[in-house]
Amino acid sequence: MDATTPLVPPGFESGQPPDGAARPTPVMEQFIEIKAANPDCLLFYRMGDFYELFFEDAEIAARALGIVLTKRGKHLGRDIPMCGVPVHRSDEYLHRLIALGHRVAVCEQLEDPAEAKKRGAKSVVRRDVIRLVTPGTLTEDTLLDARRNNYLLAIARTRSSATQEAGRFALAWIDISTGEFRIAECDQAALAAEIARLEPGEVVVSDALYDDQELAPYWRTLPAVQPLTRDVFDGATAERRLASYFGVLSTDAFGVLTRLELNAAAACVTYVERTQLGKRPPLSPPTREAQGATLAIDQATRINLELMRTLAGERRGSLLATVDRTVTSAGSRLLAQRLAAPLTDPATIARRQDAVAMMVNDPGLRGDLRERLSAAPDLARALSRLVVDRGGPRDLAAIRDGIAAALGLADQLATRQDAPAEIIEAVSALRQPDPAIAAELGAALADELPLLKRDGGLVRAGYDAALDEARALRDESRRVIAALQANYAELSGVRSLKIRHNNVLGYFVEVTAQHGDRLLETPLNATFIHRQTLAGQVRFTTTELGALEAKIASAADRALGIELDTFTRLAGLVTAAAAAIKAAAEALAALDVASALAHLAVTHNYVRPEVDNTLAFVIEGGRHPVVEQALAADGGPFVANDCDLSAPAQNKSGRISLLTGPNMAGKSTYLRQNALIAILAQMGSFVPARRACIGVVDRLFSRVGAADDLARGRSTFMVEMVETAAILNQAGARSLVILDEIGRGTATFDGLSIAWATIEHLHENNGCRALFATHYHELTALSARLPRLFNAAMRVKEWQGDVVFLHEVVAGAADRSYGIAVAKLAGLPASVIERAKLVLTKLESQDRTSPRGFEDLPLFAAAAPGAPRVLQDPAAEALKAKLAALEPDEMSPREALEALYALKAATKGKDP
Ligand code: ADP
Ligand code: MG
Repeated sequence: MDATTPLVPPGFESGQPPDGAARPTPVMEQFIEIKAANPDCLLFYRMGDFYELFFEDAEIAARALGIVLTKRGKHLGRDIPMCGVPVHRSDEYLHRLIALGHRVAVCEQLEDPAEAKKRGAKSVVRRDVIRLVTPGTLTEDTLLDARRNNYLLAIARTRSSATQEAGRFALAWIDISTGEFRIAECDQAALAAEIARLEPGEVVVSDALYDDQELAPYWRTLPAVQPLTRDVFDGATAERRLASYFGVLSTDAFGVLTRLELNAAAACVTYVERTQLGKRPPLSPPTREAQGATLAIDQATRINLELMRTLAGERRGSLLATVDRTVTSAGSRLLAQRLAAPLTDPATIARRQDAVAMMVNDPGLRGDLRERLSAAPDLARALSRLVVDRGGPRDLAAIRDGIAAALGLADQLATRQDAPAEIIEAVSALRQPDPAIAAELGAALADELPLLKRDGGLVRAGYDAALDEARALRDESRRVIAALQANYAELSGVRSLKIRHNNVLGYFVEVTAQHGDRLLETPLNATFIHRQTLAGQVRFTTTELGALEAKIASAADRALGIELDTFTRLAGLVTAAAAAIKAAAEALAALDVASALAHLAVTHNYVRPEVDNTLAFVIEGGRHPVVEQALAADGGPFVANDCDLSAPAQNKSGRISLLTGPNMAGKSTYLRQNALIAILAQMGSFVPARRACIGVVDRLFSRVGAADDLARGRSTFMVEMVETAAILNQAGARSLVILDEIGRGTATFDGLSIAWATIEHLHENNGCRALFATHYHELTALSARLPRLFNAAMRVKEWQGDVVFLHEVVAGAADRSYGIAVAKLAGLPASVIERAKLVLTKLESQDRTSPRGFEDLPLFAAAAPGAPRVLQDPAAEALKAKLAALEPDEMSPREALEALYALKAATKGKDP
């Protein structure tokens, strides 16, 4: 640091030291230096039993954590804001800060304060940052959700000068707690959907991309986006950095990667190295996801279909929670991954289905497997922690038990000659770890393991002779101390005399204050040497105790030293076998998912869907997986329904179902169940139906009219229209579109007109398979002229003046809306119901004010199909209007000239 220009900590930018302001203290100087090296992190600065935060960090943390903001000393003449968290509770505070998207640098004391004192009274304890905690690079179980992946995502973009490639993005994502590493490319239109699928814990982008005009507002909607300096995304060094992480000479081994992909991948590993301070968590070699390999589902659709969580934000009640029957955390994570990214290749889907089918057909095997799996620990996460030196004794035990479970499962499955490919592959991966590692861990580790290695007691007695000897000495001395206490009590005549221990004094003799004087006087003071007088007690030492203490300490130190060495050696064994252990961990997860989906299929009566490359969409006896289970819990039956949106023979466009029926009849449920069945089918699961035949869907869209989106502060109708626009612009022949009451958010005739035109566009331009639910009965007239549109309705019955919902989908249009009947069911006062009936009869008998029938609406007048629609510029429109108003024949030459001037001025935006 330049001594003449002191670094100004954040929050003190304009601070000039007032006259006579003291120089920063040495501790403050040290803080400022360390803070300067970690400018974009909150600095947890270790001081004794606390992590302290200073300056702006303190203000941010105090606000975020709801802890007290205090002051400590002055810097450049001003108070230094400060807050602190106790070390033993720091995980909890870290967790909350990380969840809010902050990054934290943890700065520890690297020596004993006593060491520092030896260098002189003023010297400062050596400190440095030992780790950076960021939302995307966590490994601790306390900071992670066991059932979810936590991704760090790096995004690179082509430089805008490279015109032919401009607007291409590469995504590279890593879960350092499991070692997963993937890469994909996409264009800007698909970027948000890709990110929505991954739900990254943290995103890193270059400074330039972070500040990009178009994308900057979007980045702000994501939880933690970190801009990084250009060198992290430097194309020239990308390949070298990536190869060096994996210790290989060239990245060719990873298959052909584009330069853009290399950039993103290198940025990702570089950031991992930086946050782990050079340690390299075990990563799988990056695998590339081919474009279009997964079903594209945008953010709004994911939210809408409640795939991973409900609209209220909870896991419970989501599709994921409903179909998750896994018994391990790793299995649960893999299932979530598959659900978030269903496949589009029928052969790959069939591979997964084959594994599920095998488990469906063999209940004995399935039960056995699930029992063994449920005893298997989280291998992948234990492994990552051990490699980055954050592991504990229990992580070693997890590796021991995980390998044993893997080998046991492999033996059990090996007897199956007829096993499908996915299972055969899993078996060979399960056998990869060397059984000798598990045996060594088994021999070395004690039965009851401490949480932290520094607590000692992790090595089994009898494993290491030197350790056993040191322990015996230590324990023997402890017994001697107990005997000594009895001796001293007798010698002094103080029965309550105790020998105690603390970190400051070590072992000491303690008596209550009333007995203190006796020990301070002759003859006892020859034995007892005064150390400390407290309010209630007096403390002493003796030469004997001092000698014993040294002996105990050295024996205990020696024992702990041996234990720590053993731990390091065992962790080294594990680290060396990281790749094999990771492979086995993945295989365990895959087996868990296959048997869990089979268990689900059997217990809930799901069938194997046929998935192919046609444009079929036939579901017989389909059910909504979530509603069905919810109803079952209440003892109610779910009414199964059919759906056929298949493209007619020789046709490249699918059919559209127009569904009408009163509120509460089951329209939304039916729409969603068909979308969910497609998702389940393409993720490789069986589906809740009697039979299903699905031509692969490449994009799925689902929108609900007037969805409340108050959180983002947009008008609900605006949101509805923006989302509908996205669908009409993007859906293709392979897409599946679900529109639920589009147009509901505005006045009746507006809404009806928009819905009308939307259906026409879907039918004529998009050609996708679609379901459209509406309460506009007028729309049913469209089926007469749109050949691939057909009407369906929810059946209801009227019984003694009440409406009864049968939840059954039948061909044809609903006869009327039953709104008043539904209102009655909802408990509106009888007087209101009666009055409403009266008004309705009156209204129905009158002529309606606006369009008489809908038959005369021109069908395809809106725009030529496919023609891009140009947004109209209001200024240009105004100018056009002015031009049209001119009557050249009626003007004098002078008027004509003035009109010209006026027009000229108007183009500059100045209306004369
Ligand atoms: P709509 O969209 O027509 O207003 P919903 O789809 O919201 O109706 O359904 C209303 C309620 O009816 C649901 O909460 C569900 O409990 C029940 N329901 C819907 N479909 C079925 C079905 N097929 N079988 C049994 N109950 C159903
Ligand atoms: Mg509805």
